[in-house]
Amino acid sequence: MARTPTPKKRIEQLRAQIREHNELYYGTDNPSISDAEYDQMVRELRDLEAEHPELADESSPSEAVGAATITTFDPVVHRVPMTSLDNAMDESELRAWGERVAKGLEGEAVQFVCELKIDGLAISIRYENGVMVQAATRGDGKVGEDVTANVATIKSLPATATKAPEVVEVRGEIYMSIAAFEKLKADREAENLERIKNGRATLAVPVNPRNAGAGSLRQKDPTITAQRDLSLWSYQLGEVVGGPAFTSHHETLEFLKSLGFPVNPEIRIVDSIDAVMQFCHSWQERRHELPYEIDGAVVKVDNLEQRERLGFTSRAPRWAIAFKFPPEEKHTILKDIQISVGRTGRVTPFAVLDTVFVGGSNVTMATLHNRDQVAAKDVRPGDTVVVRKAGDVIPEVVGPVLAKRPKKSEPWEFPTTCPCPVKSTLVKLDDQADTRCIEPSCPFQRDQRIIYFASRGGMDIEGLGERTVFALSDAGLVADVGDLYSLTVEQLLTLEGFADKGAQNLVAGIQASRTKPLPKLLTALGIKHLGPAASESLSAHFGTLDAIVAATEEELSSVDGVGGVIAASIAKWFAQPENIAIIEKLRAAGVDFGRVEISTEPQTLVGKAVVVTGTLANYSREEAEQAIKRRGGKSPGSVSAKTFAVVLGESPGASKVTKAEQLKIPVLDEAGFEILLATGELPN
Ligand code: NAD
Repeated sequence: MARTPTPKKRIEQLRAQIREHNELYYGTDNPSISDAEYDQMVRELRDLEAEHPELADESSPSEAVGAATITTFDPVVHRVPMTSLDNAMDESELRAWGERVAKGLEGEAVQFVCELKIDGLAISIRYENGVMVQAATRGDGKVGEDVTANVATIKSLPATATKAPEVVEVRGEIYMSIAAFEKLKADREAENLERIKNGRATLAVPVNPRNAGAGSLRQKDPTITAQRDLSLWSYQLGEVVGGPAFTSHHETLEFLKSLGFPVNPEIRIVDSIDAVMQFCHSWQERRHELPYEIDGAVVKVDNLEQRERLGFTSRAPRWAIAFKFPPEEKHTILKDIQISVGRTGRVTPFAVLDTVFVGGSNVTMATLHNRDQVAAKDVRPGDTVVVRKAGDVIPEVVGPVLAKRPKKSEPWEFPTTCPCPVKSTLVKLDDQADTRCIEPSCPFQRDQRIIYFASRGGMDIEGLGERTVFALSDAGLVADVGDLYSLTVEQLLTLEGFADKGAQNLVAGIQASRTKPLPKLLTALGIKHLGPAASESLSAHFGTLDAIVAATEEELSSVDGVGGVIAASIAKWFAQPENIAIIEKLRAAGVDFGRVEISTEPQTLVGKAVVVTGTLANYSREEAEQAIKRRGGKSPGSVSAKTFAVVLGESPGASKVTKAEQLKIPVLDEAGFEILLATGELPN
């Protein structure tokens, strides 16, 4: 058994490890551990150093800012040092900081400026007589790297600032927007697929905007930086010569704005720690509405004279604190890659992971989408991988940590046969991303079709989830969705885990589903490409399932919202005798084939797409969308050039607002929405 090291030994170990990780993170923009693990190590070191002051060392990484510069770029000595920030990991740590500030200022009233903590790379940009002369990274806070040519490629940064004083150093965060990151990632994945075709080694796929942004900025060749579309938020002044005198931080931000530098619009000035907490919690909830990543909020004392009295530690100001959000990215072991078979026969690879707590939940599995995605990312069983779970988004395996790849690891090979008992050969057509099982009798596909039929988007049968379907299928009670309606309570009671009440409820739920509206029934059949929107259009046009079955491909494709691909898929489905047999079973069971709800509202919005975002006072989101649809309009989930108008409620999605602004789409409040519903016109 390993012996617990002495505090001295452990401190030495941690210092050495942290230095090494600093090198990787700041020097190569390619860390080998997650930020959460790194933060944990730094915390352990700080705690040990606090417990053992006799082991203190000025050169400990716990006392330092970042890491020393590397030799790729010329060194730049910062005239005003660039510091880091102390962190608060939770509310109690933030409140403790508030108390330290209050104590330091002997109970004086304090105003706090709350800012977003942009997840990027700190930069100092020097203008002399209005002309950008130098840009430098933070480095170790005293000496940074000269990245002037690279920073000059950033479009939102003015090359000249005509109103600037003799000298002004603009400090802020350079970041890569989520859109720019997604583009870079997609380009790199496409390049990797090309490389695989030509037998060449794949390139590392960028794992997050922060590291991709830092790596892009620190390119030797600035033309590469220029292609990466970096952005900047400025939040601080460095050296200023010949400028106005300031008494508060918010005045300096106003000044930066007046000179033409981008200052983040989400900055708030508040006068209590409670209000600071509110800002932090609110952004923790809404962080994904922003088109760029933040990893926390930064709180700063506003009054500059108060700041002076509070001063600095060796690495950070005492007048500011970073409130860090819980991590959304962790590292874990990818134990295996397996495949699942969907209702249309699509085969999806997924990662089986060592359970990891990330983004607020335990993650044990994550989809890998398709064969090309696995190849492009080159993730392999045994790899340490980066797992990301952002808010409600499904967890994603972002990529491997190459530094930790086991020796003798081989790329993963996609299986050639279906994992079901039939074991049919899987097929991948060259022009398609998906691999498929095309065996009509595949029991895995059959089970998935039944699950889909009963799901919320389909017939919405309560109690008929995945587990029950597998049990029914294994017991031979159900071979297709038509069999569901003849299930009896007695039959269900033969299955393990079913009691009287549950069995009766399930049979009642199945029988009740016979009167679901036609669009639901049509969607529930699980015809490839046919989703709820096209099902609605077809139901409204044809009125009954029999009329849809009888329609020709041309007739189907002539319906608004039903393209050639969907029409062909429907025609093919109804041409198969086994599917007609299912339809007949449903008819015999008394399933209603013609329930279409006809709208009595005036058709004011025919052909118009109206996007709703945020909370409205008089409509739930669903009611607002229904109100649009009942008037003949569409209510898609995202803004595009085809959007007629965007309705904004309380706390709207920032990306929708930005998109509407960019595309100059009219924006309405709730009163405007009412006018639009009634008249189909935009209010004056
Ligand atoms: P930090 O990121 O915790 O906070 C300080 C930085 O926040 C500032 O220097 C500035 O660049 C930035 N910032 C963003 N918005 C700001 C705003 N509005 N006002 C002021 N500053 C703002 O500290 P750090 O010293 O830059 O980096 C330490 C962090 O880096 C660690 O907590 C960890 O997350 C990461 N790191 C990871 C590894 C690894 O191996 N994974 C290694 C080293 C560092």
